[in-house]
Amino acid sequence: MEWKNPRPTSSPAETLTLGEELAALFHHKLYVVTLQGDLGAGKTMLTKGIAKGLEVPDWYYLNSPTFTLINEYRGRLPLYHFDLYRLGDTDELFELGFNDYLAGPGVLVIEWPEAARELLPASNLIDIRIEIVAGDRRLFHIKRIIG
Ligand code: ADP
Ligand code: MG
Repeated sequence: MEWKNPRPTSSPAETLTLGEELAALFHHKLYVVTLQGDLGAGKTMLTKGIAKGLEVPDWYYLNSPTFTLINEYRGRLPLYHFDLYRLGDTDELFELGFNDYLAGPGVLVIEWPEAARELLPASNLIDIRIEIVAGDRRLFHIKRIIG
């Protein structure tokens, strides 16, 4: 697949589709997707699309794991959705069992990933920065390291 980069979307539905396209790349291995962007950029919307693409039955109800820091979903591959916005410190990541998730297989989607940065693998890492252009327009800057 050819990836236009940055990839524009102009509606939540298009962002959902982008998430589904990403999910199509994922096989029975470990993948980490980091999502950066302001509140309301569409990080959770993109994650919904990934969940849909992974055939998570109740993908539509996916929400930010604001207080739990992580939500788990069963799809074609397990999906682990992290939102580390309220993470206290790196120790909390170990308490969450973050290292176990890194063993894979599965897809880790991490909103506000900076606290976890040093722990992330070098391969199958997809860094995405979402830029809010105006109104419903978004630009997805995608840095892929697949291998
Ligand atoms: P974040 O997780 O980055 O805080 P959300 O995905 O929860 O953001 O919310 C994004 C909001 O922006 C939603 O209300 C959505 O309807 C709206 N929106 C408007 N245009 C887009 C777009 N192109 N892509 C994604 N969301 C969009
Ligand atoms: Mg969110």
